[in-house]
Amino acid sequence: MAEWVLPTIYTDRCTACAQCVSYCPTHAVEMIQSQPVIVRPEDCAYCGLCEEVCPTGAIALSYEIAPLTWEGDEIDSTDRAD
Ligand code: SF4
Ligand code: SF4
Repeated sequence: MAEWVLPTIYTDRCTACAQCVSYCPTHAVEMIQSQPVIVRPEDCAYCGLCEEVCPTGAIALSYEIAPLTWEGDEIDSTDRAD
């Protein structure tokens, strides 16, 4: 069985505004009985737009994907701070 990493939906915080549905670029989420449901998990790009537009924090990625930036000297993998 296939598995996907999907946004978590906190139904207790959801006001059923459907912003997540409107902004989802892949139509992975739909409103069903006034609740957002990831109906097409295989289409979820894990882009985070739903989390961004949700006014109540009711839908969130399970972890943050942050760009790796480094503005200092090159990292020396043998230089450990211990
Ligand atoms: S993470 Fe992106 S693709 Fe997945 S449900 Fe949210 S808006 Fe849609
Ligand atoms: S944007 Fe947030 S509050 Fe609105 S339907 Fe989606 S999860 Fe619920």
